[in-house]
Amino acid sequence: MADVKDPVCGMVIAESDAVATVEHGGSTYYFCSQDCAEEFRENPDDYT
Ligand SMILES: [Zn+2]
Repeated sequence: MADVKDPVCGMVIAESDAVATVEHGGSTYYFCSQDCAEEFRENPDDYT
């Protein structure tokens, strides 16, 4: 299983451990927590 990086906090997690995913600009982003996913949803362009 691939490791992915949470773009909000920078944590590297296993894709299967991601708590939340968000689609943005044709890509899927993975998050360690709902808080990080919420932050990304509010300001996606700050993290891409
Ligand atoms: Zn995070």
